[in-house]
Amino acid sequence: MKRDYYEVLGVPKDADLQQVKKSYRKLARELHPDANSSDPNSEEKFKEATEAYEVLSDPEKRSIYDTYGHEGLRRGAGGAGGGFDGFPDFGDIFQSFFGNFAGGSPFGAAQPTGPARGQDIGVEIELTLEEAAFGVERELTFEAYNTCPDCEGAGTTDPSSIKACADCAGRGRVRTVRQTILGQFVQTGTCPRCDGSGKVIESPCKRCRGAGRVYSERTVTVNIPAGINEGQRIRASGNGGAGERGARAGDLYVQVNLAPHPQFQRRDDDILHNVNLTLGQAALGTTLDIPTLDGEQEVVFAPGTQPGEVKILRGKGVPHLHGHGRGNEEVLVNVMVPRNLDDQQRALLQEFEESTGAEHYGDDGEHPDGVLRRLRNLFTG
Ligand SMILES: [Zn+2]
Ligand SMILES: [Zn+2]
Repeated sequence: MKRDYYEVLGVPKDADLQQVKKSYRKLARELHPDANSSDPNSEEKFKEATEAYEVLSDPEKRSIYDTYGHEGLRRGAGGAGGGFDGFPDFGDIFQSFFGNFAGGSPFGAAQPTGPARGQDIGVEIELTLEEAAFGVERELTFEAYNTCPDCEGAGTTDPSSIKACADCAGRGRVRTVRQTILGQFVQTGTCPRCDGSGKVIESPCKRCRGAGRVYSERTVTVNIPAGINEGQRIRASGNGGAGERGARAGDLYVQVNLAPHPQFQRRDDDILHNVNLTLGQAALGTTLDIPTLDGEQEVVFAPGTQPGEVKILRGKGVPHLHGHGRGNEEVLVNVMVPRNLDDQQRALLQEFEESTGAEHYGDDGEHPDGVLRRLRNLFTG
C-alpha cells in the first residue's frame, strides 16, 4: 500500500508550496544517508518523500492526486508526455533542491561525484507491423547535449589552464557544519566550486563556456529488434544527453508505437486476418491467396466452410522477441450473402433452396453453437 503523500510529508491537505518545500527539505536532511546511516530504510523513505514532494509541488499532479489518488497519477503518467516512468531521477530532484551542496545523488557513496551526468532522453517512434515483426534500423534525430566539438568535452582547449581547486584542495569534497535545533550536524558534500571534480578551468572553452557540451541536433541509429510490440521501450545506453566535461552520458529510451495495418491485427505474437468468402465459395470450397507477413500464401477452404471458422497458419505470425519461433496467423472466415439478385438468379436460388433440407445444414455441417464456441475461443485467446 502506498502511503498518502500528505501523510508522508506531514503537511495538511491545504498546505501551500512553501510548507511543502519546507517539510520536504527537513525530511530530506533527516533521511540523507550521511545524516542517518543507522536507519536501513532511509533510502526508501527518502524516495517516498521525494515522490510525494514531486507530486505536491506540481499544481497539475497535485490536483490529479487530490481527485483520483495514486491510481490517477499512474494512469496520468502513462497517458501524458510520452508515458515515461512517472518520476524523474531522484538525484536530479535532490540536486535542484539543494544545488550542488550534496552532489549528484544523495546516496552518493558509490556514485561518482563531479560534473553532472547526461540526461536520459525519451523519443517515440511509429513502426509498421512489418517493421516491428522483423526488426528495422531507424535513424532518429533530436536535440540534445552533445560533446563539445571544440574541446572534446574537456571544457577547455588549453589543458594547462586546468588547475587544482583551491576551495577543496583538489579533493572535490568539502565538510560543512550546520547548527540545527538538534545539535551540530557535520556533512561531507561535493565542493560547490569545482562540482566535485577537484579542478577548476582558468580559461574555459569559448564554445561551451567550460561545460564540455553544447545543445545541438543529434542523429542516432537505433536497431529495433524483431518482435517488438506496441508500448515497449528500447534503451540505447549512452545515447542520451552528453554529461558535463566528459561525465557519463545519459541513455536514450525509444518508445515504440505501432501504426494500424490495413489487413492485419496483432494479438501478442499472433496475426489476425479476416477473409470474405462468397456463399458459393463457402459451400463449394475454394483456394485463395491469403496475405501473410511473408507474402501471399495459398489456403484451401473445404466445401461447407462456415462463417466463424478459423484457419491457423502456423509460424506465420510475429517472431518472438528475444526468442525462437514465431506466432501464428489466424484467418477468420466471413461468408457474404448476395444482394440485388435479378429474376433468373432469384429463381435459381429458390430452386436450390427447395432442393436442400436440414441434412445439408445440420450435424455434418457446423452447428451454430460450434461457430459461437470457436468465435469465443478466437477472441478470448
Ligand atoms: Zn568546449
Ligand atoms: Zn573544489
